[in-house]
Amino acid sequence: MIDLHAHSNASDGSDTPARLLALAAEAGLSALALTDHDTIEGLAEAQAAADRHGVRLVPGCELSCVMATGTMHLLVYFLPDSSGPLQDRLAALQAGRLTRNARIAATLTGHGLPVTEEEIMTEAGAGSVGRPHIAAVLLRKGYVNSIQEAFDQWLAYGKPAYFAREQLTAADAISLAHASGAVAVLAHPTTLGLESASSATGALEAFVGELATLGLDGVECEYGRYTPEQRAAFRAMAQRHGLCVTGGSDYHGTYKPDLAIGTGTGDLAVPDELLTQLEARRPA
Ligand code: AMP
Ligand code: FE
Ligand code: FE
Ligand code: ZN
Repeated sequence: MIDLHAHSNASDGSDTPARLLALAAEAGLSALALTDHDTIEGLAEAQAAADRHGVRLVPGCELSCVMATGTMHLLVYFLPDSSGPLQDRLAALQAGRLTRNARIAATLTGHGLPVTEEEIMTEAGAGSVGRPHIAAVLLRKGYVNSIQEAFDQWLAYGKPAYFAREQLTAADAISLAHASGAVAVLAHPTTLGLESASSATGALEAFVGELATLGLDGVECEYGRYTPEQRAAFRAMAQRHGLCVTGGSDYHGTYKPDLAIGTGTGDLAVPDELLTQLEARRPA
């Protein structure tokens, strides 16, 4: 088994990169991808731990793309730890987060939930700062009863304290990934806001077809929160477009307490051969 989607405290997970590899080894995984939001800062520590535990590390990150109807995340794999066109853009994307977070803090404060940028930065520590950190501050101050409630009432797309930040277009993100020697995979397709289950004629199908034309390499079909029916429908969709199937837990530690490395919400089991097939699509 493998897990191709996990976050460390280099972005909005609660565990160190080294701890993720220890958990992967405990779960009996042969490979784990570290996919922090807009950052590769956790990869060096993760690689050292992967060597110690005898688990293969797939170096990656997760990018957010411009999407009018919802949230589009792109998982990037086999991203060399060195410099490259995509790696060079990550710093600008981080700066966009800080501007966005300042607007969120001001809006929450305006709604009677005083939150400072400093509190958010303290929660995030050294890594990339994201909305789960803001949610954790709201929880700690007693404004909400869970991280999920913070999203549902305030922070999610369409809620009062939601603000977009600077994002890449899907076309740019895919070509930057390829130019950096990596592959690009559409994450959790249900968040796009197109339709919840795939059908061969719907808006999701058409959108994935466009992404395939842009060079998309795969679709994350095996996701812990999906039903067996959704997973099967997404696998069929990927196949219709000649795309790889991938899967992962989207583990975030305490920020998404219902998800475990490897098994997700309990029944996830991503087979090793999906990684072999994905690796075959690496640019030369
Ligand atoms: P950001 O990168 O700061 O925009 O935050 C995105 C992260 O927030 C995602 O990776 C999830 O960890 C979390 N997130 C986004 N939307 C939701 C939601 N509706 N419910 C729970 N968590 C969410
Ligand atoms: Fe996240
Ligand atoms: Fe995501
Ligand atoms: Zn993720």
